[in-house]
Amino acid sequence: MKTALITGVTGQDGAYLAELLLEKGYQVVGTYRRTSTLDLWRLRHLGIKSKLILESMDVEDLGCQVRLLKKYMPDEVYNFAAQSFVGVSFEQPLLTSTITGLGVTNLLEAIRITKPDTRFYQASTAEMFGKTKTTRQNEETAFYPCSPYGVAKLYGHWMTVNYRESYGLFACSGIMFNHESPLRGIEFVTRKITDAVAQIKLGKSDKLVLGNLDAKRDWGYAKEYVEAMWLMLQQDVPQDFVLSTGRTNSVQDLVHFAFQAAGLGPWKDYVETDPKFVRPVDIGVLVGDSTKAKQVLGWQPRTDFKQLVSMMVEADIRRHSQHEKTMLTI
Ligand code: NDP
Ligand code: GDP
Repeated sequence: MKTALITGVTGQDGAYLAELLLEKGYQVVGTYRRTSTLDLWRLRHLGIKSKLILESMDVEDLGCQVRLLKKYMPDEVYNFAAQSFVGVSFEQPLLTSTITGLGVTNLLEAIRITKPDTRFYQASTAEMFGKTKTTRQNEETAFYPCSPYGVAKLYGHWMTVNYRESYGLFACSGIMFNHESPLRGIEFVTRKITDAVAQIKLGKSDKLVLGNLDAKRDWGYAKEYVEAMWLMLQQDVPQDFVLSTGRTNSVQDLVHFAFQAAGLGPWKDYVETDPKFVRPVDIGVLVGDSTKAKQVLGWQPRTDFKQLVSMMVEADIRRHSQHEKTMLTI
């Protein structure tokens, strides 16, 4: 039986990957950071909480990571732990740099010290392309991050490459474009919109306040993206891969489809904008080219944007109808 250690198992991708690896027969060790009120709603939602080994670990604490690696000697480590929200990274750039950036080096060091044949996956991001001038971004595209989050992730990305090249670690980065699901954090624009639409549908709210409606993103379904992450660590050679759908939609499109999915309209009757949700610098458009993942991994996304939005709206309507706890409301 293989053992995998997942940092950030309480997050969206951590939960879906844990589910996938359990289905594949792995022993899964999921790490969470200690908080006064631990929230495992995603693991409960998927019905996998009791099937995992849960351990407390902060990515800032190298000693703790070394001890955990020695205890479980994992075949694979997937690093999802991050301050993952771009908006907050402008408010908390140092914290973001420490967790999202330096946290990666801590893990790489822990692996180098304890079990250098452990395979390592780093959750890199399309935010590293930032102000790119290219119309489609692939593994060869130059990086130009434009948020503290993007900069911190780029540092973690290059450290992953560096440990692969310097010490021969089997270390890979997935350069992931936005991927969403009913388990997405509520501060991200997809889930913020689908949650608000559900509340409007059920008469619990009458407006949705957003920032930049013109931004365009390449949005895929998270459950499919974790399949590619696992595939990356099963290859003969460690490499980096762009994971994307290759299609882009605007925030306004997202709003339109979400209201449509709930049978509400016109959306303009409910939506307002407020500069407080506009970032100091925002990326106008991102669209990925995941040809390499298709050719080498045999991976391609299956759920289209409209289906994804409908799935999320339906899930949020169900939750609000049943007063199900999903996470703290912002
Ligand atoms: P989430 O924000 O849902 O999950 C992040 C996880 O990191 C949470 O479990 C969080 O714990 C944990 N974490 C935060 N700080 C620390 C810390 N100091 N020590 C240990 N754990 C910590 O992100 P996603 O699941 O959506 O994304 C997974 C990874 O992929 C992240 O690194 C993200 O940056 C990256 N990524 C995501 C994309 C997306 O579209 N989803 C796109 C590209 C990259 P807690 O629950 O306590 O907050
Ligand atoms: P990101 O691509 O990782 O920054 O993911 P987000 O879901 O946080 O944001 C996607 C896009 O939606 C960005 O261009 C944001 O500026 C835009 N956006 C517009 N209004 C909002 C909002 O109210 N909240 C968030 N999170 N993003 C918004």
